[in-house]
Amino acid sequence: MRLSKLFTKTLREAPKDEITANAQLLAKGGFVFKVMSGVYAFLPLGLRVLNKIRNIIREEMDALGGQEILMPSLHPAEYWKATGGWDNIDVLFKIKSRTEKDYALGQSHEEIVTPIVKEMVKSYKDLPLAIYQVNWKFRDELRPKSGILRGREFEMKDMYSFHESQEDFENFYEKVKKAYINAYKKLGLVAKVAEASGGNFSEKISYEFMVLTDAGEDDILYCSACDFCVNLNIAKQKENDVCPRCGKVKLEKGKASEVGNVFDLGKKYPKDFDFQYAAQDGGKEYPVMGCYGWGTTRTMGVVVEKFHDEKGIVWPDIIAPFQVHLIHLGDSKEVKKAAEDLYKELQKNKIEVLFDDREDKGAGEKFIDADLIGIPLRAVVSEKTVKEKKIEIKKRNEEKIKLVDKKELLKILC
Ligand code: ATP
Ligand code: MG
Repeated sequence: MRLSKLFTKTLREAPKDEITANAQLLAKGGFVFKVMSGVYAFLPLGLRVLNKIRNIIREEMDALGGQEILMPSLHPAEYWKATGGWDNIDVLFKIKSRTEKDYALGQSHEEIVTPIVKEMVKSYKDLPLAIYQVNWKFRDELRPKSGILRGREFEMKDMYSFHESQEDFENFYEKVKKAYINAYKKLGLVAKVAEASGGNFSEKISYEFMVLTDAGEDDILYCSACDFCVNLNIAKQKENDVCPRCGKVKLEKGKASEVGNVFDLGKKYPKDFDFQYAAQDGGKEYPVMGCYGWGTTRTMGVVVEKFHDEKGIVWPDIIAPFQVHLIHLGDSKEVKKAAEDLYKELQKNKIEVLFDDREDKGAGEKFIDADLIGIPLRAVVSEKTVKEKKIEIKKRNEEKIKLVDKKELLKILC
């Protein structure tokens, strides 16, 4: 993609009303546009990052046997009344039609997925089943804040599983927890698994995936020697208690952002929708249900919180909007041609390249934008490099500048 054609512009100043790094840098870099408090548009650069996050999660869910679907956001009120959510979930957006009918905007999708699965699953032979989607959620959050960490419209990957027995559910639950940890690791994040209470309507234990960051809203207690972690809200322990799991060190307190969670829903939703299947013993049974949420847009914000410096974002390779930020400096025809040729060659080799071909910007501005946008590798073509038949490269997270030839550059990027 050519920067000269990119319709978004970088900002030199962060919007005054944004405090957190993710809100400031994503706006400055032209990744997102704030439409109103808690509601953001994802612009070309931001959408590229979000798509990569979505796809990493999809790979993990597919590997678990999850089948992807897409459910609507506009829901009939009756489904929410059937589960009690209509009156009990304070963040539920309710809409009245001109026909006087009531609707809800999806704040989660148990109310939709359960009736769908009920129509399809008739026998134990159809179980277990895991269905997921990557879709927008709407919540009437009182204090949308911290950029895309807490939106009123945000995106989530939500998976729902249905099982014949609690045991089968527990096995799957463990697999999903492992897949989550694995996927966070791919994104460069260390997620601690915190035990928490079960959320809406549930007495059961759930697990929250917490990433330490001061921009987060949760307080956790964690052990630096083992994987013990609890949400401070429910914790039996307090700061400086000896870790109840390993006994080696004292528990530390930290601010964290919940990037995902998994719930044991038991039989609540199948019971609400009278969803029974023909069991192996000839009787009728309600399936055991689990749900597995992952905030995709929040994850993008947390990545920015973790990976940035005073100049801008430092994207991990795997979700960077492009692999290389190619910059052309100077007016001579020879340099322009060398940069154009390199751009084409990189594209031919399927390398994702953002090409700063702007003619009205000098080196200073181009470098500032490259640091702000945060693509892992910067490649410069200038009078000097052309003379030496080289390209000047610099990693976003290093100071060292290196001259390489085209072959070496392709080797680094392929
Ligand atoms: P929180 O405690 O942060 O409000 P939650 O317990 O309401 O989260 P779920 O309803 O289970 O979370 O949603 C699953 C995931 O969706 C969360 O782990 C989080 O990553 C993300 N998420 C929840 N609410 C928001 C929001 N308002 N904005 C952005 N992401 C969110
Ligand atoms: Mg919430």
